[in-house]
Amino acid sequence: MVKIKEIKAYWTINSRGQRALEVCLYGEKERAFFSSPSGASKGKKEAIEKPIDEAIKIVERIKKEIIGKELSSPKEFDELLISLDGTKNKERIGGNVATALSIAFIKLLSKEERKEPWEIIGETYFGKAKLEFPKPMLNFINGGKHASNNLSIQEFLIVGKREDVEENLSQAVDIYKALKEMLKRKGKSIAVGDEGGFSASFREEREALEYLSKAIEEAGGDVEISLDAAADSFYKAGRYLIEGKELSSLELVDYYVELSKTYSLYSIEDPFFEEDIKGFKELKSKGVVKIIGDDLIVSDKENVEKYKSIIDGGILKPNQRGTIKEIFMARKELMELNKIAVVSHRSGDNEDSILADISIGLRSEFIKTGAVARGERTAKYNRLLRLKQCGEHEG
Ligand code: PGA
Ligand code: ZN
Repeated sequence: MVKIKEIKAYWTINSRGQRALEVCLYGEKERAFFSSPSGASKGKKEAIEKPIDEAIKIVERIKKEIIGKELSSPKEFDELLISLDGTKNKERIGGNVATALSIAFIKLLSKEERKEPWEIIGETYFGKAKLEFPKPMLNFINGGKHASNNLSIQEFLIVGKREDVEENLSQAVDIYKALKEMLKRKGKSIAVGDEGGFSASFREEREALEYLSKAIEEAGGDVEISLDAAADSFYKAGRYLIEGKELSSLELVDYYVELSKTYSLYSIEDPFFEEDIKGFKELKSKGVVKIIGDDLIVSDKENVEKYKSIIDGGILKPNQRGTIKEIFMARKELMELNKIAVVSHRSGDNEDSILADISIGLRSEFIKTGAVARGERTAKYNRLLRLKQCGEHEG
């Protein structure tokens, strides 16, 4: 049971150098803060992000509805937020306001009850918490809106296959190093993009895939390759602008089939513009690669249900809906449909590690939180390593 005594709202700086809304909740004994992450390649149906000044005023306005209430669980708190807003996309209070409050509340409860956030989340939504680790999906080459190079595809990822979280991350470190050395040897830039992956220019997407697969070979990694195309960002007037060509939806299907076969791709996220359902259907019918929905489903339970025949899994980003309760609903739907859940950061993120706890608490198969570089990315991976090594009740 927690009673919130005071709420403050202010801005802090996110990893992209922008102001981000942060809230601080004051309980009877403890206090906890959270700063809302922010995306660059957003889906059209995501919860609305309010400008900072407005978001701060909104918190000032709604806090009287929260302060003094006896709140027993994050679910109860999230239901209060959902009712204070009353719209699916948090049009009144804002997705960033809801996200900051929803997650700060979990942190406050965790401190007051002396339990880890993953325990609180697991107990709330599954009745029981299990310390089981997700496999990492690590973004090693950045393109699209996350870099200023010529790649249309936004993310070139490696996916751990081992059961052990430490083995997966250890391989990732070796592969990252091999890739860095290879880029240096070939005179390419080793500057990194928004999510810590390398942002060098490549002749075409295939060249980036060649580098990545050679680095994996060199480092001896037991991993697979995935892509997040974030195709909304290279779709224009019915065509996809990629590798210097303008492809139709069906031509893009053939392109993905070829890449999937050549590089044994594990999955492709958002391979098409979110309204190009025909493209999704066609690629799904080829059965060569798993399809993950991000902008397509925007962490929404109803969209998971609506698009179940064209996806094999879904991305779960807390700020796409605004509350962890709604993220759990989408997670549960994915689970019931036997599909993969990938808990994900945003390209503009914070140094908090709680995303790792959210992933464990929601029992997601994967966590996607950038490369093994940039503090806001390593914070989440290091939390996983610490939970394994340092124990369940590390502070
Ligand atoms: P975003 O990108 O946070 O910039 O939206 C992440 C993703 O598309 O998965
Ligand atoms: Zn995505």
